Amino acid sequence: MIIAGPCAIEGKEFVDLAKQLKSLGATHIRGGVFKPRTSPHRWAGLGTDAIKWAVEMKEQTGMPLVAEAMHWKQIEQLYDVVDIFQIGSRNQTDSELLRDFGRQDKPVLLKRGMATSIEEFLMYTEYIRVEGNNKIILCERGIRTFETYTRNTFDINCIAAVRKITKMPILADPSHGTGRAELVIPIALAGLVAGADGLLIEVHNNPVLAKTDGRQSITVEEFKILMGKIEKLKQSGVFDE
Ligand code: PEP
Ligand code: MN
Repeated sequence: MIIAGPCAIEGKEFVDLAKQLKSLGATHIRGGVFKPRTSPHRWAGLGTDAIKWAVEMKEQTGMPLVAEAMHWKQIEQLYDVVDIFQIGSRNQTDSELLRDFGRQDKPVLLKRGMATSIEEFLMYTEYIRVEGNNKIILCERGIRTFETYTRNTFDINCIAAVRKITKMPILADPSHGTGRAELVIPIALAGLVAGADGLLIEVHNNPVLAKTDGRQSITVEEFKILMGKIEKLKQSGVFDE
C-alpha cells in the first residue's frame, strides 16, 4: 500500500497530482478535508468544499481516497467519498470516537498517538473491534521525545514489534515521522525494511506553497525517486519470506 498525496486537498490541482501519483505507482491517494491543527486560528482544510475535488479525483483516476474524520458528523459527511478513514494522532486515544469508527464499515487507518506506547496503541484498536469493525490498519507516525531537530522521532521499533505481535498491517509515515522532506526517502525505506506493509506519505505539487505541512512534503519528482528505490529493494529479495 502506497498512500500518497497532499496533507490537505487545496483545490483543483489535487486531481492532477493524483493522476501523476497513480502513474508512478501509488495505490491510494491521501488528502485532508478537515485538518486537525495545533492552533484553531490556522487554516484547517477546505472542509466540505474539498469534497467536490475528491469526487472529481476519484472519477478521473479511479483511485481510493484516504482522509481523516475527527467526529462522527465528519464520518457521515465523508462516508460516500472516503475509502479508508484516517484517525489522526491527536485523536488516537479518544475511545468514544474509536467506537464511532467501529460502528461503520469502512477500513480505518489508526495513526499512533504521539505519546502512546506500543502496547497501548494495540489495546486501543480493541475499541474499534468491539463495535464490529475489524478492518484496521495501523500507522507509525513518530512520537514525542526530547529531540527537536525532527518534528517527531520515527519509532522504527514499533514497526518491527507490531509485525511480530499482531497480524494487523502497519504503515510507515515518514512525513510526520520526521517533519523534514529531505529525510522522508531514507526513513520510508527504513520503515519498509523493518517490516511496514506500506507507506503514508505527503507529496505536494509545490511544497513551498503548501498550506499545511509543506516542510515535510516531497515533490512528485522525489516520489518518483522513492518508488524507483522501492523497486530496487523488491528486486534485491529483502522482502522475500
Ligand atoms: C496527517 O496525516 O496529515 C496528520 C495530521 O497526521 P497526524 O495525525 O499523524 O499528525
Ligand atoms: Mn499532514
